Amino acid sequence: MLAPKKSLGQNFLQDDNVARNIVERLHLEREDVVVEIGPGKGALTQFLSTHVGTIIAIELDERAVGVLKELFGSSVEIIHADVREVDLTALSQRRGKRFRVIGNIPYYITSEILFWLFEHYEVVVDATIMVQLEVARRFVAKPRTKDYGILSIFTQFYSKPEMLFKVSRNSFYPKPSVDSAVVRFEFRRELPECNRKLFKNIVRATFGKRRKTLRNGLKYMGLDENKLNTLAFDLNRRPETLSLEEFINLTKLIEPFENSLTLKF
Ligand code: SAM
Repeated sequence: MLAPKKSLGQNFLQDDNVARNIVERLHLEREDVVVEIGPGKGALTQFLSTHVGTIIAIELDERAVGVLKELFGSSVEIIHADVREVDLTALSQRRGKRFRVIGNIPYYITSEILFWLFEHYEVVVDATIMVQLEVARRFVAKPRTKDYGILSIFTQFYSKPEMLFKVSRNSFYPKPSVDSAVVRFEFRRELPECNRKLFKNIVRATFGKRRKTLRNGLKYMGLDENKLNTLAFDLNRRPETLSLEEFINLTKLIEPFENSLTLKF
C-alpha cells in the first residue's frame, strides 16, 4: 500500500477501464518508445507493458519507484527524477527514436509539464495526458471564448490538441475535487515560422492586459504611438479575438522594432 501524498499531486487512477481506454487510444506499435510521466503504482504502466517493448517511466516518489521495480522488474526503465529536470532530447538522441508520451500527471505542475514538453517538441511525436477538465478546455479553446488564453495559444503553436474524453473524479483515489479529461497533443514536426521569443512576449504582454486593446498591451511592451501607427493591424481588437495565425502575423509586423522593446519576459 502506498499512502497518497498530496504534496506530490498523488491521485491514483483506480478504474482499470479508464486506464485501458487511455492506453488503447494511443494506438501503440510494438517498436514505439513510450515515456510515462508520474507512473505512481503503475495504473497505466500495466496496460502499456502489454503493447510496447520499451517504456521509460519518470517518477519522483522513491516509494513508487520501489513498487514499480517490484511489479515490472527490468521490463520498465525507471528514471527516479523530477520530470521537469529530465533532458528528453538527450534521452531521445541516445535511442535514435522520438517518443510517445503518456501520463496521468500531478496537477499542481500541469503548465510546467506542458512547457517542458514544448521545449522538447522535436523529440515528441505525441503526448496523451490526463489533466483537470477546466485546464483541458483551455488547451483546446478557440478564439472569442472564455477559456481562450496564453495556454491555448502556446499549446496550439506547438501541437494540435484534441480532447479525447472526460473522466469522473470518482475514478481516482483519493477523490479530487474536480473532474478530469484526457487530452492528446500531436506535436508539429515543424513549428510555424516566426520569431518565437518575440511571439511569446507579445502573447504574454497582450494577455496580461486581457480586457484592454492590443494597442494598450503593446504600449506596455514599449512600443510608442508612432511605431504602433505604422502596423497594418487593427489594434483596437482585444487579444482573445486573435487566432494563432493572427498572433504570428502581428509578430512579423512588430519584428523590425524588436530592439526598441522595453518589456521582455
Ligand atoms: N500514473 C499514476 C496513476 O494514474 O495512478 C499516478 C498519477 S498521480 C496523479 C501523479 C504521479 O506523478 C504520482 O505518482 C507522483 O508521485 C508523480 N510526480 C509528482 N511530481 C512529480 C515530478 N515532479 N516528476 C515526476 N513525477 C512526479
